[in-house]
Amino acid sequence: MTAHAPLPPAPPIGVLVELTHRCPLGCAYCSNPLALERPAAEIDTQTWARVFSEAAALGALHVHLSGGEPTARRDIAAITRAAAEAGLYTNLITSGVGVSEKLWGELVASGLDHAQLSFQGTDKATNDRYGHYEGAWEKKRAFAAMVTNAGLPLTINAVIHRGNLHQVGAFIELALELGARRLEVAHTQYYGWALANRAALMPPKAEVMDAIALVEAARPRLSGQLVIDMVVPDYYARYPKPCAGGWGRVAINISPSGKALPCHAAESIPGLEFWNVKDHSLAEIWRDSPAFRAFRGTDWMREPCRSCERREIDWGGCRCQALALAGDAAATDPACHKSPHHAGIEAMAAAEAKTGPSAIRWRSYKEKVEA
Ligand code: SF4
Ligand code: SF4
Repeated sequence: MTAHAPLPPAPPIGVLVELTHRCPLGCAYCSNPLALERPAAEIDTQTWARVFSEAAALGALHVHLSGGEPTARRDIAAITRAAAEAGLYTNLITSGVGVSEKLWGELVASGLDHAQLSFQGTDKATNDRYGHYEGAWEKKRAFAAMVTNAGLPLTINAVIHRGNLHQVGAFIELALELGARRLEVAHTQYYGWALANRAALMPPKAEVMDAIALVEAARPRLSGQLVIDMVVPDYYARYPKPCAGGWGRVAINISPSGKALPCHAAESIPGLEFWNVKDHSLAEIWRDSPAFRAFRGTDWMREPCRSCERREIDWGGCRCQALALAGDAAATDPACHKSPHHAGIEAMAAAEAKTGPSAIRWRSYKEKVEA
């Protein structure tokens, strides 16, 4: 195989828009950056509408309305309508907290196609603790009922860590009870707040493997009833995941202030130049933005990725994780067993998993922590 030049391979399949970093919850595993963007920097409805038109013209099929909590935007219904009118399939990624029946009616009327609802646990105590919001449990259940009563497809998103790993089976039952069509069991990815809280969240490997086996056993049993997606934990993996489907290959993230990112954590890599949708069209960004070109394709790779038969399967893994764990964004993701850092991070994970209860930094604007 020859190395590939950093040209965009095809249109992005989807665009994930972080409409705001505001959120009533304070999840310990939140992947938003430690330096959260302020409400005053958020781009306006009209700019989002233009971005959606450009995304559709570029060939994107769907838009994920995310955050933070996207319904914290007062114009969320207008934003949803603009995305639907652009011809995009619209997916609301929400905590479900703070969505009144009135707002829900407006979202449905605006053309919303799908809702993805997060749960932090399968009982009130666990859910409210890890979301850092008392009363979230009841509000989330009420939101799930509004979605299914409206006949919209519902996905339950469960981020798994040491504090709720024992509930994987119960998450499957909860998804069935709530009438969800899909469950995403996502082991915590250690970026942003999750990286800051890693010692408090890291589960033991043996329990992770048991949970993975439980999901794999449930899949055929629930075929046709519930689809279960699973994001496996990097630190115990043999190969890395193709982060964001491969850098600059299938997806665009846009921050609340309009910065276009190849993945949601890309700002953790110093020196990358991110173009803003206020200054450039999405087509220009997709084709020419320095940040999107930086790790697109295979030209940037070094050994062992450069000559590896999997280099166009996992694309070398996650650049942000390579920087965080190997100190070099162009290194092989240490989640890969071929990385010289792999044994070290697995040992570190095992050691952290054995620590007792650790202090948690709940995600918040108030800390004013800089990344
Ligand atoms: S992970 Fe939790 S705190 Fe972060 S945006 Fe989602 S609901 Fe809010
Ligand atoms: S060496 Fe690189 S390309 Fe090969 S499996 Fe590991 S991360 Fe993937």
